[in-house]
Amino acid sequence: MRLTFLITAGPTREYLDPVRFLSNASSGRMGYALAAAARRRGHRVILVSGPAEPAPPKGITFVPVTSARDMLRKVEENFSAADIVIGAAAVSDYRPGRTQAHKIKKKARSLTLTLTLVQNPDILAWAGKRKKKKILAGFALESDDLLENARKKMSGKNLDLIVANSPSAIGGRSASVWLLRPEGAAVSLKNRAKSFLAERIINETIGIWKNRQAR
Ligand code: C5P
Repeated sequence: MRLTFLITAGPTREYLDPVRFLSNASSGRMGYALAAAARRRGHRVILVSGPAEPAPPKGITFVPVTSARDMLRKVEENFSAADIVIGAAAVSDYRPGRTQAHKIKKKARSLTLTLTLVQNPDILAWAGKRKKKKILAGFALESDDLLENARKKMSGKNLDLIVANSPSAIGGRSASVWLLRPEGAAVSLKNRAKSFLAERIINETIGIWKNRQAR
């Protein structure tokens, strides 16, 4: 059977003015590796991505976006087509309260500049509320109490699988992660290439999807 994967990847950019933005160091590599792995197995892939480093894999539908709100809009548009949704994007939690139309000027007498940030929508939580028979997977990047916080995220966002990793995974070609399901023990995968992890995660989501259909 041919499934449709909807995958988010990369960082988002939240513009302060026409040239400056808030973002993070995500390379997008994990999300792109997931898209390539699903494609290799013959599935349809819609990759909604912020500005990332790798070239998009061949043979997929590539949807480039900039901000978290753009990303949510594209996820909304493609949601009904998806069987499996994987949130691998490093979405900015906050954005500037307003984006200035003109470049913000340095004022000689102002030694400080205060920014007001407002919270961005949570894309995976949005998906979790509407998932029905879809399978939802996400990532948790935590510096403290990794597994405990990952479990909280999994239940809070109504996910079927969460991949927990520490900040050292950001930007690298390999990572050490834990795979967690709502039931059962955590599985540890230490120091593996992101392409290997991607295969594993894709297989895991397909397994969960098959089980859900059988019920
Ligand atoms: O930022 P947080 O640790 O809550 O991210 C956990 C998961 O939720 C990740 O899979 C991320 O892609 C997703 N997320 C999202 N929209 C946000 C924040 C996070 O989809 N605004």
